[in-house]
Amino acid sequence: MKIETKCLHEGYKPKNGEPVALPIYQSTTYRYDSTEEIGKLFDLTSDGHMYSRISNPTVGFVEEKIAALEGGVGALCTTSGQAASLISVLNIVSAGDHIVSAATVYGGTINLFAVTLKRFGIECTFVDADACEEEIQKAFKPNTKVVFGETIANPAIAIFDIEKFASIAHKNNVPLIVDNTFATPLLCRPIEFGADIVIHSTSKYMDGHAVQLGGVIVDSGNFDWTNGNFKEFTEPDESYHGIIYTKQFGKAAYIAKARVQLMRDLGAYPTANAAFLLNLGLESLPVRIEKHCRNAETVAQFLNESDKVEFVNYPTIKGNKYNELAKKYLSKGCSGVISFSIKGSRENAIKFMDSLKLAENVVHVADIRTCVLHPASSTHRQLSDEQLVAAGITPGLIRLSVGLENVEDIIEDVKQALEQV
Ligand SMILES: *Cc1c(COP(=O)(O)O)cnc(C)c1O
Repeated sequence: MKIETKCLHEGYKPKNGEPVALPIYQSTTYRYDSTEEIGKLFDLTSDGHMYSRISNPTVGFVEEKIAALEGGVGALCTTSGQAASLISVLNIVSAGDHIVSAATVYGGTINLFAVTLKRFGIECTFVDADACEEEIQKAFKPNTKVVFGETIANPAIAIFDIEKFASIAHKNNVPLIVDNTFATPLLCRPIEFGADIVIHSTSKYMDGHAVQLGGVIVDSGNFDWTNGNFKEFTEPDESYHGIIYTKQFGKAAYIAKARVQLMRDLGAYPTANAAFLLNLGLESLPVRIEKHCRNAETVAQFLNESDKVEFVNYPTIKGNKYNELAKKYLSKGCSGVISFSIKGSRENAIKFMDSLKLAENVVHVADIRTCVLHPASSTHRQLSDEQLVAAGITPGLIRLSVGLENVEDIIEDVKQALEQV
């Protein structure tokens, strides 16, 4: 099946006489005939649902679908993208370990790595993702356990060179995690370029309609956890009578451990109803994402031609520094998210935003409706000037998330707001 077909037909596959739409299994618990069968569930020797903090049939079907879309061996849904970032990393690192991350990542990821994980004894070094291999290598330490980056980083709209980072990570015997939120598997499948784990905030294009927060972690099954660097995978887990994840689950060791150990202990599993809504979003994702890309290309071009605009960040704009990487990783399109700076900086940017009539001023992105945000005064407010520059943010920068309205209406709105500046 091609990916558009998978969006509809992977995961839940109704049998004779069964409902066509994904059923919502609204149940916290599952009934078994004997104590022995329940015992086997706790030994992890038989699969089956135990409790909806760890798995649920409705969520399970959506996990199967997303794993198929990304080309992984398994997936784990979470209650938010933040929970996906946290669990994807905690499944690998412990106190005393070190992360290497691209500096151009989501603001929430920067907080998580630089502030919260630090309190737990996990350090992170942020690197310039556009630097050469030798330069990036300098960030590695003997205790580095994972590398992290984002396919299309918001709000700089920077494209992450997945192959370059996969090669550096693998030379250091550690896995690469890629946050593929903006690209979605429709535009880029990071596993095909060497990523070991892919995560998403499904709150963005996957849900698409601003109705449901969520996240997901996908395991490629390709990383060798037995290379001596990852004892949690190869030594007995006392919380499961000493099972060894790589022995019990083989290629799916990473995603199995994330579920049965971390999700059990941290409890950030979505409800059946949440998964149902996410599945609706996934079914129409191919048609939506294509239109988002085409509309954004048109709007980016229009902005680029305006004399009120200082610069436009969008990879298909001629001369953008990511032209080549976009061709390689995002040949079908670069998502609906653009950022640009209005001449005269901060006040003019705010004047422009407040003059928009159609585009909504919201703290959201990658939505069906066109929306705008001023990162320096909102999502990235907590960052120092230095961190702002590293994340590619200027005081006048505006993030414009192009929706599915008729593109002429979007341009009309942008045009009248520019005239107010
Ligand atoms: C929004 C976002 C997140 C966080 O996801 P939530 O669902 O809001 O918790 C992580 N990464 C990226 C790229 C995002 O855009």
